[in-house]
Amino acid sequence: MVTLQHNYQNLVQKLAAAAQKAGRPSESVRLVAVSKTFPADDIRAVYAAGARDFGENYIQEWLAKADDLADLPDIVWHIIGDVQSNKTKAVAERAHWVHTIGRLKTAQRLSAQRPSEMPPLQVCVEVNIAGEAAKHGVPPAEAVALACEVAKLPNLRVRGLMCVAEAGADGAALAEQFGTMQKLLADLNAVGVAADVLSMGMSGDWETAVACGATHVRIGSAVFGRRDYGAAARQKSV
Ligand SMILES: *Cc1c(COP(=O)(O)O)cnc(C)c1O
Repeated sequence: MVTLQHNYQNLVQKLAAAAQKAGRPSESVRLVAVSKTFPADDIRAVYAAGARDFGENYIQEWLAKADDLADLPDIVWHIIGDVQSNKTKAVAERAHWVHTIGRLKTAQRLSAQRPSEMPPLQVCVEVNIAGEAAKHGVPPAEAVALACEVAKLPNLRVRGLMCVAEAGADGAALAEQFGTMQKLLADLNAVGVAADVLSMGMSGDWETAVACGATHVRIGSAVFGRRDYGAAARQKSV
């Protein structure tokens, strides 16, 4: 637990330094601690170190942990995995952010199911930045058009764009992919959608992402340690 707090605080410091190095205010990059496969107690430990933003991929697993952690009223839940149609209602009712809008239909369901007394659900359009078959998201050329459609929905607020860079890409390829994201965000603003978020950068590539304008980095293993998907699957099946 002490290790988790150390990992978190260490990263917060490194992020602040990287932001400054990129000529931006030190608090301009938010760390979303990606807690998928890790138990609620680990989230509590990182929360105690000052974290408020947590990212989850698997809706069933997240809901169980959100119940466990209901006594932490200012926790901010970021959904960063694919949201299937049968899961939109729970997400609309309990999440603060969805980073992974890849289809208008998902956005329409989330908007329709967002309770009217809640603030708009904050969303990013997911861009399949390297055109990988196994990845979700829209091709770069379609991102602005989708974001414009999503921006018309009443109970969602488009905040920006998200991507997962190509695994194994070298520094130059990463910079090119993140640089394209930065350009797409500018394009989106140019057509009249005021968007300020670039959700990009993970444990292995966040430094390049911050240099290219990331505002939200999603970091899992560098905070929580190595993931054991087997343990998560066993937990989910009970
Ligand atoms: C798991 C995951 C992360 C965190 O990955 P790490 O390499 O552990 O930092 C970030 N973004 C998405 C979409 C993820 O699925």
